[in-house]
Amino acid sequence: MVGVSERARTRARAEGVRAARAEPLRLLVPPHPEPLSTLIANGLIHLIGRAQPDAEVEVRRLGGAHAVEVRGAAVDWGEAHALLIDELSFVARVLREGCGALAEALAPWRQRLASALRGIAEVAPVERIEGEYADPEHASKEGWGRRRELQERYGYGGAPTALLFLAPWAGKRRGGGRYSVCPLCFSLALAGLTRATAVITYREGRAAGAVFATPDPVSAGLIDAAQLQLAFGEARFELGREPPAEAAPLLALGGAALLPVEGEWAVCAWKLEYPRGGSPRVKELVRLRALRQFSLREGARASRSRR
Ligand SMILES: [Zn+2]
Repeated sequence: MVGVSERARTRARAEGVRAARAEPLRLLVPPHPEPLSTLIANGLIHLIGRAQPDAEVEVRRLGGAHAVEVRGAAVDWGEAHALLIDELSFVARVLREGCGALAEALAPWRQRLASALRGIAEVAPVERIEGEYADPEHASKEGWGRRRELQERYGYGGAPTALLFLAPWAGKRRGGGRYSVCPLCFSLALAGLTRATAVITYREGRAAGAVFATPDPVSAGLIDAAQLQLAFGEARFELGREPPAEAAPLLALGGAALLPVEGEWAVCAWKLEYPRGGSPRVKELVRLRALRQFSLREGARASRSRR
């Protein structure tokens, strides 16, 4: 596996075992503006679920951040890192080959993103995540005009800019430059986008664009998160009409709306428009506290009480 040494894996395992014997592991996903925060949280939860399916995970939104608590089984962060590298390598290939709804939705950034992905997951400090995401100041080390600082801190020379589709509010330059994030946040956000985000492209007359929607765990566990991430992450299609961003959760879940999912959920949805010959622009960015309206929770209870 590129970039992940056996020694790093062994060290991560040893540290993981130590963590399993002691207190629960507590991580704080740094509070970036939306949808970046939710994408990072989803990427992290997905990664924990893949690297350690036996872990008990509790996610709670705390203002702009997500607190993630892991109990019961230790996460092998070396393994998690290897999975993240695989994931982003696959995304890079999809973008290079330009196939599927994700590549179409990201078409304006395909080349930039493919080069940004080159090597970024390899330098993401996944094995040090306990230190990185225990630090409440983590996010304050990122932001507008922090590119050089981040490059020095993490020693990478790729593209740390949060691109428009990851951070619509950061698409334009401000005094100090574009909004930059560390390779860990960037890589996890990409994993959240590819594994837990509905991507609905549309063409209506001369207008074209894409709506993205990702579930936001307000208070949830791993199994429910995994189910919702799968339902959203598999929703990839094109519409002949432009949908409002508010409709994205319903469109994305479709027949899966009665999944027995518990917990408290919101949805983060955003719409980008790609004017012919012009630069992409943000049309909508909304946070919906609406999943209960789709009977996810009540539906689950009702179906259980009928048994
Ligand atoms: Zn970061």
